Amino acid sequence: MFVRAGNQYITILFLWNNEMRLNDNIINIKGIGEKTAEAYTRLGIETVRDLITYYPRTYKTYTNPVPVRQVSEGDRVAVFCQIVTYIESRRGKRYEITSLSASDGSGSIRMVWFNKGFLKSQLHKGESYVFYGTIKIKGSLRVMEMPEFFTQFNYQKMLSTMQPIYSLKSGISNNSITRAINNVKEVISGLPDYLPEDIIKERGLMSRSKALLEVHFPKDEDSLREALKRIAFDEFLEFLIRIRMLKEKNVQEVNKHLITNEAIIKKDAFVAGLAFDLTEGQKNAIQDIINDMSSDHLMNRLIQGDVGCGKTVVAVAALLMNCISGYQGALMVPTEVLARQHFNDVSNMLKPYKLVVRLLTGSMTAKEKRNVYEELKSGVADIVIGTHAIIQDSTEFKNLGLVVTDEQHRFGVKQREKLSEKGDSPHVMIMSATPIPRTLAIILYADMDISIIKELPSNRKEILNCVVGTEYRPAADAFIRKQVREGHQVYIICPMVEESEQLDAENVINYTDELSQRIGQNIRIDYLHGKMKENQKAEIMTRFLDREIDVLVSTTVIEVGINNPNATLMIIENAERFGLAQLHQLRGRVGRGDAQSYCVFINTKKTQESMNRLNVLNDSNDGFYIASEDLKLRGPGDFFGIRQSGMMDFAVADIYKHADMLRLAQDISLEYGEELAGKIVL
Ligand code: ADP
Ligand code: MG
Repeated sequence: MFVRAGNQYITILFLWNNEMRLNDNIINIKGIGEKTAEAYTRLGIETVRDLITYYPRTYKTYTNPVPVRQVSEGDRVAVFCQIVTYIESRRGKRYEITSLSASDGSGSIRMVWFNKGFLKSQLHKGESYVFYGTIKIKGSLRVMEMPEFFTQFNYQKMLSTMQPIYSLKSGISNNSITRAINNVKEVISGLPDYLPEDIIKERGLMSRSKALLEVHFPKDEDSLREALKRIAFDEFLEFLIRIRMLKEKNVQEVNKHLITNEAIIKKDAFVAGLAFDLTEGQKNAIQDIINDMSSDHLMNRLIQGDVGCGKTVVAVAALLMNCISGYQGALMVPTEVLARQHFNDVSNMLKPYKLVVRLLTGSMTAKEKRNVYEELKSGVADIVIGTHAIIQDSTEFKNLGLVVTDEQHRFGVKQREKLSEKGDSPHVMIMSATPIPRTLAIILYADMDISIIKELPSNRKEILNCVVGTEYRPAADAFIRKQVREGHQVYIICPMVEESEQLDAENVINYTDELSQRIGQNIRIDYLHGKMKENQKAEIMTRFLDREIDVLVSTTVIEVGINNPNATLMIIENAERFGLAQLHQLRGRVGRGDAQSYCVFINTKKTQESMNRLNVLNDSNDGFYIASEDLKLRGPGDFFGIRQSGMMDFAVADIYKHADMLRLAQDISLEYGEELAGKIVL
């Protein structure tokens, strides 16, 4: 009721605001011309609404300067120093290098910039500045690379403010986004709240418009925290309302794809032919699937199990039963690399059954894709494996009976809605390694039934972990040699693809060079990263799986799903830069076979905090434990990092960090869902 009144209210308010509306193109905003608007579309921003909900990636806070004597490697600090040398500029291998030495009496630091020759005319010997950056120790020298610098007066003004940092693309600066949002401030402040006053008060929530303003122009940490909570709440509520509608629709669907007895018998033969015995968890999951697929209703099932528990074979069993019963099946994965690997594995496993298995990915040629589309439409193809290309509109099936999605972290409600519209009500199965506590899982997957695979296969040995500093590298090199000599393979993970001016972290390309020089003889080293062409990536992965590459240096593109049981060692460089959950996923690439596996976390930033975090992984291989510790250990800095690549559809909401908001949204959706459905503004 209040919502209807609310909607009218919106119209009036927008007329007040120079008629600027949420759906208006951003070209109507002061200061945005055609060219800028064009650049904004590359960030996915076309309307005023898009702009307002383009949340900062993180926030930068400036802290009081500290004495140089107290700084240590990896600290991100401000120092107040006098320039004690002339400013030098010289051409390095890749960059022009500008440098100077500065001191505060307690110690000195070398300041270094790349490709910033113009600084020579801005900085002078004898002057004092506050320099802000990350400390590196090189021999006996303290170095700050690419520091920012401010006069003391200006720095005072910046202190204790929080500067939003947005994700950018060329043609758009952080300032330009801040300015644009500043110009629609009135639109934001005029936004009505779809939630009634009394709920807002009673539950202690910030109002919607205040939250949006705070996110872009935070007053202080406390109010930013409240703002993020409110936005998380809104995201959860919308999600839950849609999930509920989806569920209502799904429970009415009758099962049009019953599985046959013959299919179950074939499945038994398939299981008997496996090189291993299934775990109890795997057997139960398969039984749940059989029960679902032979019931009156559609299957909607989440299979949850930690990395390495063996979800693929469960999916294959389901696909087999489905196809033997006469229907088509689809397996959807998040990356092409994984799609290709699953394609090879599944084709192999199903060889005896003479099923036609096809790969469908975005990078295939138009002609190749067309062939697969035709085979799916005519029913020639039994199983298709691929990336989200599968659920695009151009894919038609003759008789789609089952869709399985694997490791889709972003498998939100939009994707679930889309799937339920594909084909003629296929069964749906989601496989996930994300360790969500059961209490939250039943909320987030309210539209699904859940099977949990608790145990790892019994042949597994616990992965042995260690957290070390960079001085461990020679020992690591020796260890790599040993593993390779024993016929095993190695992953090395670097955070970056190539050298960068802004970030000091290991990169795949240089690392591969250096490693080849150190241990190259007789060891075949190659690299993989996300910027490579899909066919290059595929070729590297194939060679790695065929054991033609001994050591694969890679970014996190191999994070999910990849299975090479012969890989027994993973070394993660700059481990402090990754989230714990992500490190756990990465580590899951080893320990997949009979042999003892190892994971070495190289911690470049030797602060107590990063040690504590990494020790969680050192102590445990259990995804649930890691996720809960991760939450406890998140420092204030992490608190404001907004993960753009979070789970489901959420930009801000984090199911762990905002678990209380998830529960609140659940309460509200149960109580008021009906009234609020479809009325949530923004
Ligand atoms: P995930 O659950 O991470 O997707 P996979 O399905 O990729 O795990 O399985 C990891 C490895 O374990 C594969 O090599 C697979 O063949 C093997 N595996 C699966 N189930 C078992 C089992 N019950 N016993 C032994 N090995 C198994
Ligand atoms: Mg998997």
